[in-house]
Amino acid sequence: MTTVVLLSNDSLLLTQLQKAFAAHAPVLKVVLAADLAAQEAEIAACWYPPAGSLGRLPNLRLVHSVAAGVDHLGTDSSGSAVPVCRVVDPDHRRGMTEYVRWAVLHFHRDFDRVTAQQQKSVWIRHPQRPAGQFKVGVMGLGSLGSAIANDLAGAGYDVRGWSRSPKSLAGVVCHHGDTQFESFLEGLDMLVNLLPLTDATRGILCQRTFAALAPGAAIVNGGRGPHLVIEDLERALASGQLRGAVLDVFEHEPLPAGHPLWQMPGVIVTPHMASAASHECIARQVAENAQRLACGETLNNLVDPSLGY
Ligand code: NDP
Repeated sequence: MTTVVLLSNDSLLLTQLQKAFAAHAPVLKVVLAADLAAQEAEIAACWYPPAGSLGRLPNLRLVHSVAAGVDHLGTDSSGSAVPVCRVVDPDHRRGMTEYVRWAVLHFHRDFDRVTAQQQKSVWIRHPQRPAGQFKVGVMGLGSLGSAIANDLAGAGYDVRGWSRSPKSLAGVVCHHGDTQFESFLEGLDMLVNLLPLTDATRGILCQRTFAALAPGAAIVNGGRGPHLVIEDLERALASGQLRGAVLDVFEHEPLPAGHPLWQMPGVIVTPHMASAASHECIARQVAENAQRLACGETLNNLVDPSLGY
């Protein structure tokens, strides 16, 4: 029986995962870091693992993120060089698609303007703009971004996508690489970020990026907090260069009370709720990879260490 140790600073999540593994992955022996049996663990299933925790596992053969992203593993650099896998839940796509669709409609159909008008009892009907005249760009065309670009294209929006390597998606004008970044951004009414956080993407939501969009564009950050340069956002909103921002992810979560983003005009803060893998899916995918590890088979959803995602 493969032993899996659950590593996280989030004690509620640990309890929930223990229950999910017991129900949906009974073939695994699941322990916590404080258990003696953690020494036997071949797999660490992690969400922000405490610093030093991976280094205390002499039999470690696989680090498994319990999320789509793996940047949170950076809280513990003590692990040895073992493969890293992530969870790719089909329901993730549905949740993120719903979230982005709502954010796009919010700006496309002027709900931001009319809710502000309501505060002042102002009745103004804004000219309705067909979806085909509203340009939306999706940064990251992976598991989530490609589903969103497809969904928006299906809803009639003028959709562009940007990824590291070339892609082909029906109804989406695809751009790739640093050299096509400017042409991807040019004149967008909305920019949706679904990139993983890596050295190449940190701070990508910055003044230079905002300046390439249409005047009064809006942004959605569904990737990770450090993608966004908050001071640049504040300046772009104040000058009208940006009209609004929907932010789901933050460098420090929960977003601390008193953080300027809570009250920044034009900003909607959501509590990292766009989409989450179900605990059942996490348990099943870790169990599947445990089986593959034991049989020497190729692991599912393996992360490329040279790319960081
Ligand atoms: P994937 O790994 O499937 O896709 C990542 C995409 O980003 C790929 O298309 C990749 O290009 C592209 N990319 C990576 N680096 C670059 C770069 N330097 N330049 C251009 N494109 C780049 O990730 P997912 O779609 O599963 O998830 C994306 C991110 O969404 C996660 O890393 C996580 O941070 C975030 N997330 C947020 C959630 C939330 O609730 N807010 C929930 C789940 C995830 P290529 O295809 O060429 O490799």
